[in-house]
Amino acid sequence: MKGYTTDQLHQALKHFFGYDGFRHFQLEVIQNVLKGEDTLAIMPTGGGKSVCYQLPAVMSPGIAIVISPLIALMKDQVDALNANGINAAFLNSSQSQDEQQRVIKQAQDGDLKLLYIAPERIPANNTAFFEFIKRLNPSLFAIDEAHCISSWGHDFRPEYLKLSVLKQYFPAIPVIALTASADGVTQKDIIERLELRSPRQFVSSFNRPNISYFVLPKKNAVGNIIEYIRRHEADSGIIYALSRASTEEIATTLAGQGIKAAAYHAGMDTSARNSVQEAFQKDDIRVVVATIAFGMGIDKSNVRFVIHHDVSKNVEGYYQETGRAGRDGLPSDAILFYSAGDIIKLKRFTMVDDNPQQSAIALKKLEAMQQYCESPGCRRQYLMQYFGESFPSYCGSCDYCLSELEERDATEDAQKLLSAIARTGERFGAGYIADFLRGSSAEKIVPAHKELKTWGVGKNLKKDEWMWMAQQLLSGGYISRTDGEFAGLRLEEGAWRVLKGEARLKLVMKKAVKEQPVQLDPDYDIKLFEQLRRLRVGLAQEQNVPAYAIIADNALIELATFLPTDFTQLANISGFGDYKVAKYGAVFLNLVTEYMQANGLTSRMHFKKAKPSRKAKAEKPAAGSSMDASLQLFLDGMSIADIAKERRLSVGTVEGHLAAFIASGDLSITKVVPFDRLRNILETIEATGQYVAAKPIKDLLGDDYSFGEIRMVLEHYKRTKR
Ligand code: ADP
Ligand code: ZN
Repeated sequence: MKGYTTDQLHQALKHFFGYDGFRHFQLEVIQNVLKGEDTLAIMPTGGGKSVCYQLPAVMSPGIAIVISPLIALMKDQVDALNANGINAAFLNSSQSQDEQQRVIKQAQDGDLKLLYIAPERIPANNTAFFEFIKRLNPSLFAIDEAHCISSWGHDFRPEYLKLSVLKQYFPAIPVIALTASADGVTQKDIIERLELRSPRQFVSSFNRPNISYFVLPKKNAVGNIIEYIRRHEADSGIIYALSRASTEEIATTLAGQGIKAAAYHAGMDTSARNSVQEAFQKDDIRVVVATIAFGMGIDKSNVRFVIHHDVSKNVEGYYQETGRAGRDGLPSDAILFYSAGDIIKLKRFTMVDDNPQQSAIALKKLEAMQQYCESPGCRRQYLMQYFGESFPSYCGSCDYCLSELEERDATEDAQKLLSAIARTGERFGAGYIADFLRGSSAEKIVPAHKELKTWGVGKNLKKDEWMWMAQQLLSGGYISRTDGEFAGLRLEEGAWRVLKGEARLKLVMKKAVKEQPVQLDPDYDIKLFEQLRRLRVGLAQEQNVPAYAIIADNALIELATFLPTDFTQLANISGFGDYKVAKYGAVFLNLVTEYMQANGLTSRMHFKKAKPSRKAKAEKPAAGSSMDASLQLFLDGMSIADIAKERRLSVGTVEGHLAAFIASGDLSITKVVPFDRLRNILETIEATGQYVAAKPIKDLLGDDYSFGEIRMVLEHYKRTKR
């Protein structure tokens, strides 16, 4: 095979596949294969392994033989190749005898560039089979999911062992083994069993930065899944469950909630599976609920979430499954519902009969999975380290990093810690320093140290937080460990700069205030909630702001729970401050009341505890004053005009009186100005971009609106704006 320049390879990539550039090590792998060398390519799922053998296949004379265990995926691959004008076909047990004969004929006629073969199609007596292949003039062998040949791997398939003599039959034909399994032992095993000749290994990073990882306690998992799917209306995803029965049960539950979902598992016949797969590809089905062991054929680039209803048997499998999310590079979620009980159940499953060695391997892998779920720390870091890559302790996009940690300026605290190290003579370990900072009076604290100024200045952080900080300062090179029997901490150059205030320091620290996740009330009316959300989407689009800026989800949930029917009740719903009541109150109330009427519901506001008043009140007009009298009459139900007549004041003066109570918060604007007018005035205020002068607002609104009315709304606006 001749050598190609990088340029030529780029052109070929564009020509055959339409891609603009190579990813990861694709280029290097392809060059190695084209040189006729053996290759082991390790890339995460979705990393782009296929191109690594498909491009060499189309650029070489003869036919590339691809061994792949995934029958469902084979068809997709072949379809995709054909769609790119590349002749390819497959041989597997799903085909009729006639079909297989037709494919064999095509191959013999030299009409194919790639032939996919399922390992079970290789007969036990592989001599005849290999003779057949030899006559086809093979250009290369690609062994997909190569970890299947290793009993150390997580998906050992005995049929793959038939391939171990491949190199003996075809010593001159390059072999490329591909896998997403990064386990070192497995890699070595692949090379040995395939007898690869001085292979080059390419390992690309396993990090999938666009996927966020979440491990959640398994409580009402299906309810939470429904909730999640509702919040991600436009997205499609895969839910993995352990048993066929549970995939069907979950799919049925989801369908019952109006979510387009279907089960997918090995117990279904091929045509049923194909139709689910096709519907999923076409977005006719949003959610596929698949067994962990199966569902491998699902290849869809815009999968936005992968949810594990049950824990996986090992990290390799788990990572491979989550890898099916976000192949298009867009942000996606991987969510796992974890219960320790599931691990116990799985332990029984993972035992391989009569094979203690295999069982031990499986158990160890399960333990690692358990550790992933239980260890307090960045999930991504755990995964990356599992796959042999180093990764910092903060990724910013896993449940741990998002809920527990934040990266922030920690210069002041770091100074305390560093100066504590300095003052105590750079001889003590992190535990001692932490105790010292927290002002511990324990005996182990040297008495003289209790006299130091730094003793006890660190009560703002807990002991483990100080230790955690020391850890980071160590890995950042600000401090180091002294040698000797009792390793102490010592300051490095960088530390002095921090101490002198010459450098500031950002560290990953526990969040100052832990955010409370939204508590969902199970009793809310889901249909109404959906309608409210749609209303909110409409408002958000109209005003070109994000939906949450209109009103938060939990406000909608409260609406759908308590069913308020008037403005006063609405003001009791969390999230509805006066401003929001005035601006959006009527539209939301309309929807709620219409819905209640249509469904024969009555308000449940009596279940709602009163909202504590949130704002300190502005100065209240003195009781018994003239203003008070106006307010009293107004509250008694008199119109402003009537009050003016009664009290022989001008309308403007009465409006001024009421404006004062609006400013102090004692009178709600919604009681004074009808909603439509209120909205118009508010919008005009915003249009003028100021809320001091009434004149420009009046100029825009015209004669229909009085100065007094505008002033009242201005007072309201000022009050809620703060
Ligand atoms: P793997 O087999 O490693 O799981 P695939 O070969 O199926 O990954 O590739 C994953 C996705 O990435 C596919 O949708 C593929 O079209 C796309 N892809 C692969 N290589 C490139 C590239 N160089 N440029 C753009 N997209 C690519
Ligand atoms: Zn993280």
